[in-house]
Amino acid sequence: LVLTSACNYYDGVTQKEAESFYNEMKDPNDETPVSYGLNSRLVKENGKLQEKTWKVGGLYTQAIEKIVYWLKKAEGVAENEAQKAVITKLIQFYETGNLKDFDEYAILWVKDLDSRIDFVNGFTESYGDPLGMKASWESLVNFKDLESTHRTEIISSNAQWFEDHSPVDKSFKKEKVKGVSAKVITAAILAGDLYPATAIGINLPNANWIRAHHGSKSVTIGNITDAYNKAAHGNGFNEEFVYSDAEIQLIDAYSDLTDELHTDLHECLGHGSGKLLPGVDPDALKAYGSTIEEARADLFGLYYVADPKLVELGLLSSPDAYKAQYYTYLMNGLMTQLVRIEPGNTVEEAHMRNRQLIARWVFEQGAADKVVELVKKDGKTYVVINDYQKVRELFGELLAEIQRIKSTGDFEGARSLVENYAVKVDPALHAEVLERYKKLNLAPYKGFVNPKYELMTDENGNVTDVTVSYDEGYVEQMMRYSTDYSPLPSINN
Ligand SMILES: [Zn+2]
Repeated sequence: LVLTSACNYYDGVTQKEAESFYNEMKDPNDETPVSYGLNSRLVKENGKLQEKTWKVGGLYTQAIEKIVYWLKKAEGVAENEAQKAVITKLIQFYETGNLKDFDEYAILWVKDLDSRIDFVNGFTESYGDPLGMKASWESLVNFKDLESTHRTEIISSNAQWFEDHSPVDKSFKKEKVKGVSAKVITAAILAGDLYPATAIGINLPNANWIRAHHGSKSVTIGNITDAYNKAAHGNGFNEEFVYSDAEIQLIDAYSDLTDELHTDLHECLGHGSGKLLPGVDPDALKAYGSTIEEARADLFGLYYVADPKLVELGLLSSPDAYKAQYYTYLMNGLMTQLVRIEPGNTVEEAHMRNRQLIARWVFEQGAADKVVELVKKDGKTYVVINDYQKVRELFGELLAEIQRIKSTGDFEGARSLVENYAVKVDPALHAEVLERYKKLNLAPYKGFVNPKYELMTDENGNVTDVTVSYDEGYVEQMMRYSTDYSPLPSINN
């Protein structure tokens, strides 16, 4: 996997060598393990394995020095002492490259709940590493949407109820859910791996032990979700792929809201739920870890979006609203997400694998009772859901199984679920979906253009204001960024 991967996190290293290199560092009795390998390239030089750490004075120093330069400016205008301490620690991490510093930073960050302005900044997500250890750099500066945050606060303040009532085995549940904080944010600027395409929700930090001991911060990015929703209305997509008017009406009435709620539940409760049994290696699922983790969070959201508790909490107005989410989720996982894949290829990306895994599994497990069907109408294939409550039961069953795999580190269980349900594509259905999609003339991915910020200064050079404009095109922005922000040489080693 490592030798054939397109990533540049390794050089001349096999999967076996990489795994044994990191296994030697790990102490199974360490209850607060660092995220091994997170911030380095693993290379073989003169026959010897060594890590090239991304830090000031190390690999990518030219870019990291710029990050530190701006963080120092931010440190000087921090909103409060807690936020200042977060930034100071992050600077220290970039200077030392020490992953203990990174964990200390993450703990300070997760506890800073009062700041109106917040950020993500660092080597964060490991989806691009076939071993799921090495992270790409991303950043997002944001401010809290006070009104919408009310919704996520209702969810997070009931976190223990959701944990207690989930369909997973008791031994895999958290007895006490700690510090789940949730908010809706407005992204002010996107950078690194979050630009131009971004997540719609984020739950960090990723270290399992920090989540268990200190909690996690969960966000739904409101302005991004809103833009996606606005772009989706009236583009002809649902009219082409949704089975009948009944489903269209459900989707029009509830989909924007149930989608947001699903993201809230996924981020705020799903990723934070459950626990590993003592002694289980957090990397035990290796290349299948990301897909299983995303499936776990999605299933938590899918199971609970249909729960009467959401109506009781005032988050949904109708007990039927969840059907909109179930329909669009299964349609996407069984069919329409294939628009992102070239003919002849398989499903590779972790979130897409997770969605197909869930949809295919439910489809096959419910086949005998025709719970979900793929039917042909006028030569076109459609998803039909005959029994929504049964779909919910199946989501619950799969959640229990996926949590068992995660909690016990069952690599073989993860491998078999992913390989059997998540990867392979039916070529005939794929061709049909691509053909129908082509006629709609839509792009399979969407990206965002950052606003342009300009400092206003008085005659003494003091900053008095910042203006925001949206008059820059995508290409112009990319060209400007490559002129102003290209500190790295062409070859980095
Ligand atoms: Zn997720």
